[in-house]
Amino acid sequence: MTHVITSLCLRDTGCADVCPVECLQTSDNVSQWPTYYIDPSACIDCGACVPECPYNAIFPEDEVPSAFKAKGGEVINEPGLAGRYSGKDHRGKSVTLNTTRALAAGEVINLKGAIHTNAQFFK
Ligand code: SF4
Repeated sequence: MTHVITSLCLRDTGCADVCPVECLQTSDNVSQWPTYYIDPSACIDCGACVPECPYNAIFPEDEVPSAFKAKGGEVINEPGLAGRYSGKDHRGKSVTLNTTRALAAGEVINLKGAIHTNAQFFK
């Protein structure tokens, strides 16, 4: 198995700083690959990255929710979305994303698409 980063990722970087096997990957092509990704061939499923993510974006692969219910205000980050997000990662570095959408309270979305996206990233 592996852990998976879902579209709730806003590139905080805390996950990458704690991963003992350095399997968190990103891309300069942010419009096509806007979130971080976990290399499934390297992940040892230690779970250290999960509590480091302030957006609760990381799950064991078999626990990614197909019906994630938003509290409201969460931001998803996926290719093709047109919303703009500006913030700072946990190192204080500015993060600007143009592939986002804020979720409404009670909105239900399927986060399992990130599993496929994660696999595509490493093809
Ligand atoms: Fe790295 Fe552990 Fe997270 Fe896998 S579960 S990405 S090994 S920190």
